[in-house]
Amino acid sequence: MVLITSPHNFSTNLNRISRHSRWYNLVKIDPWQNALKQLDDAAKILKLDPGVHEMLATPKKVLTVAIPVKMDNGKIKVFTGYRSQHNDFRGPHKGGIRYHPGVTLEEVKALSMWMTWKCAIVDVPFGGGKGGIICDPKRMSAGEKERMTRRYAYVISEIIGPGKDIPAPDVYTTGKEMAQIMDVYSVMHGQGEPAVITGKPLSVGGSLARNVATGLGVAYCVREGAKKLKLKLKGARVVIQGFGNAGTFAAEYIEKMGGKVIAVSDSKGSIINPKGLDSKKVLDYKNKHGSVVGYPGSKKITTAQLLITPCDILVPAALENQITPEIAKNIKCKIIAEAANGPTTPEADAILFKKKIMVIPDILANSGGVCISYLEWVQNLQRYYWTFDEVAKTMEKHIVRGFNDTYNLAQKHKVDMRKGSMVLAVGRVLESFEARGLWP
Ligand code: NAD
Repeated sequence: MVLITSPHNFSTNLNRISRHSRWYNLVKIDPWQNALKQLDDAAKILKLDPGVHEMLATPKKVLTVAIPVKMDNGKIKVFTGYRSQHNDFRGPHKGGIRYHPGVTLEEVKALSMWMTWKCAIVDVPFGGGKGGIICDPKRMSAGEKERMTRRYAYVISEIIGPGKDIPAPDVYTTGKEMAQIMDVYSVMHGQGEPAVITGKPLSVGGSLARNVATGLGVAYCVREGAKKLKLKLKGARVVIQGFGNAGTFAAEYIEKMGGKVIAVSDSKGSIINPKGLDSKKVLDYKNKHGSVVGYPGSKKITTAQLLITPCDILVPAALENQITPEIAKNIKCKIIAEAANGPTTPEADAILFKKKIMVIPDILANSGGVCISYLEWVQNLQRYYWTFDEVAKTMEKHIVRGFNDTYNLAQKHKVDMRKGSMVLAVGRVLESFEARGLWP
């Protein structure tokens, strides 16, 4: 069954989610309201026409799907999934698919809007999209996940495609699921179609550098930010919240640039060692023991303690709304590079700006993933594949230009970099709209 939804079924989701009480805090602050507030701020600076503002504040299409799955015990369980397509003035929709018990329609819509802005900032020819399934992938077998993934691919297949909407991985989805979605789409269309999705394994048209892309992009942004602040990266203390794909590669590349990782966390807890942690060894430990907690020589701390640890560079790389006003008041760092989407609340933003902390916003800091997704899609369309260095160098150019364009606009309007990035992004989307016009 497929429904096009516009109403907010937030309370229904909340009922489901409240069963997982530890996720409740994550949905208390509505990411969609955060996204709208950020758009409002840019609209004021750009003196946006109210009609155009309303158009940009409304996703073009939101699909809610029921995903019935035969579980290993023989019983059928119905999962709820979403795909939100925010805007396609600059090109086909682009954005990841998230598997998480805390997924809500509001979150998916917010993430799809942020994708529109992110693609515009690094100037790749895509619009914004995002998908998600309310599920707890850690409690599902490989078979159950595969059946859920394939059914989801089938029910959203009518709105995705290489020229329409190109999904990618996000929290708790990997190349494995991308290959399964590509397979379903290809079988349904009678031909191999790698360009329908990115983040695939190399064997089915993935791009070199894709796995490191987001973390490497975060590191490029940190390097550019440090240059502006005249902060030496050698010996700079780094704290990473969330030690998954984005967090681990950000740690590795910032370490390569001279940084010293002193504290990290995952969903099971946070650890610190002021003398420095070897991020590769911590990752090996996590892979063996299921968490960073317990890593030899480290001390366990709380999430709040991790975020307010005195450091030079803080990289939130987990989930939304982690940096609240209470946390922001106590944060002691010079740069916050938002690897995660939406980790800082708008109220916290204002506090950080007053404290002169450089916040490199998510839509810029974590744009490495979408840059390389774009390059993967280009390679798929031309059936010609590039080297790691070719891909990484092209990505670096997009990100460094995006960083400087954002920084310069923020300086010009005397606002923080989030507002600067929004002015840049909304301005670029507007330019495409003005060139295309409204039909009919
Ligand atoms: P991932 O699943 O690989 O890792 C997520 C990590 O966060 C895991 O280590 C998990 O244990 C940890 N985590 C979960 N809840 C936590 C909590 N409450 N406290 C601390 N840690 C917690 O996911 P990822 O791909 O690294 O994505 C992380 C963030 O980066 C998300 O916000 C995602 O949207 C964003 N992002 C990722 C990419 C990408 O290419 N991977 C691209 C753009 C943005």
